[in-house]
Amino acid sequence: MSDTRFDLNQPAPDVIIIGAGILGCSLALALSQAGIKTLNIDRNAAPGLGSTSASTGAIRVHYSTFDGTALAYESYHHWLDWRDFLAAPADEELAAFHQTGCLVPATADNHFLRPQLKYCQQLGIEHQRWDGAQIRDYLGQVDLHSFAPVRSFDDPEFGQGSTSAADIDEAVYFTTAGYVSDPQLACLNLAAAAKRAGARFLHNARVIEIRKAQGRVAGVSLADGRRIDAPVVVNVTGPYSRTINALAGVDAEMNIKTRALKQEKTVLPAPPALAGRRPGVIWSDSDVGAYFRSHGEADILIGSQDFSCDPMVWVDDPDDWDDNFSQQWQTQAFRMAQRLPDLGIPSRMRGVVALYDVADDWIPIYDRSDLPGYYMACGSSGNQFKNAPMVGRLMAHLIQGCENGHDHDREPLDFQLERIGQHVSLGFYSRKRSINAQSSMSVVG
Ligand SMILES: Cc1cc2nc3c(=O)[nH]c(=O)nc-3n(C[C@H](O)[C@H](O)[C@H](O)COP(=O)(O)OP(=O)(O)OC[C@H]3O[C@@H](n4cnc5c(N)ncnc54)[C@H](O)[C@@H]3O)c2cc1C
Repeated sequence: MSDTRFDLNQPAPDVIIIGAGILGCSLALALSQAGIKTLNIDRNAAPGLGSTSASTGAIRVHYSTFDGTALAYESYHHWLDWRDFLAAPADEELAAFHQTGCLVPATADNHFLRPQLKYCQQLGIEHQRWDGAQIRDYLGQVDLHSFAPVRSFDDPEFGQGSTSAADIDEAVYFTTAGYVSDPQLACLNLAAAAKRAGARFLHNARVIEIRKAQGRVAGVSLADGRRIDAPVVVNVTGPYSRTINALAGVDAEMNIKTRALKQEKTVLPAPPALAGRRPGVIWSDSDVGAYFRSHGEADILIGSQDFSCDPMVWVDDPDDWDDNFSQQWQTQAFRMAQRLPDLGIPSRMRGVVALYDVADDWIPIYDRSDLPGYYMACGSSGNQFKNAPMVGRLMAHLIQGCENGHDHDREPLDFQLERIGQHVSLGFYSRKRSINAQSSMSVVG
């Protein structure tokens, strides 16, 4: 009977974390630091090989909500002091954070950044307003005509420019932004820190059952027949979150649900004015519906901002989907070529095809469930890599609060953001919330 347990020589875990991506590893670190015995179970062979490895790794602070902005700003500080955050030894190779800043044109589509600027002012986040001349100076060859509304590539009017919208004459430069060039390494860094704090990891192991006993969660069963007991189980499975919530039988009680969405990012040679630029550039452009960031010194990486004219490829089964490139990558490349006339588009394409785990309002779910002992950190909606340092702590706070008897659904817990001296209500991330009308309803969050 007992030979089906994980490892009899090890103490049984207090918490099973399903998933060892950037969020699952961050949670392992936070709980282990609190003296709680964790076990991450992941179907892949190493941490960070799920959607984390495909991440653009953009770290930015402008969000459409106060809570989103505050969490991102707090997390930014920990990317800056990553080695201290991890308490990593001096010789450990760490993921590099390249602080490039992030330049965002103020356009009708992003409401001229009014909400973002309001929250930045409230939180004292540094930013500068740049005029057209400064934008040109910074980006080199750039066409500042408006191309709105964002059009699909096969629209005969694609690239013709707007007849009604004014040219772009202002952009906001957010200083506290940049990118992590190796997201999987960042995840490995978190896993190593968690292990130093006592966390354990089980790889090549797929969870196929959430076990229950006496009205609460009791552990998990694995595809290889093993069963592991624990009084707390957390779903941090990225694009698989919907599948695991269905296994737990908690999906019916959630107002906000999650779905996997196909995403393609493309890597192109940087235009001459941007090639060799250090530390690089991030340009997030809702007028053409795409963003780019430097990718090393020779390339840029382009991603989509998910506009309604684009077909959304929702994926029901993350084990069975078409992971080939489609026209999506090309559409984004040509959209950015409207803005950057010097951008060359080679016939041989490089990039990545992956899945977002999208919540109904593109704001994550960090919450308990109606099944006692079962929690979820999911719906990261293509925008939570940056928050990884804080999401682990936030979830650890929530789990400890709930396991100590707090009724989080009735009276949402508060969470302290120590570096920026703010606190947020974790009710913001509730599975039972209504759609948050302030959300951009896109990857911008
Ligand atoms: C293309 C792309 C670009 C992105 N760009 C950015 C960005 O620029 N900035 C930003 O902030 N965010 C970005 N994101 C979002 C960010 O990368 C994700 O929010 C984050 O990586 C999610 O981490 P995770 O740990 O929740 O999920 P994952 O990294 O997907 O980890 C989940 C893990 O669960 C495991 N798992 C699943 N099912 C099971 C099972 N049944 N049993 C055992 N293990 C299981 C998987 O193997 C996987 O390792 C991007 C995402 C994508 C896909």
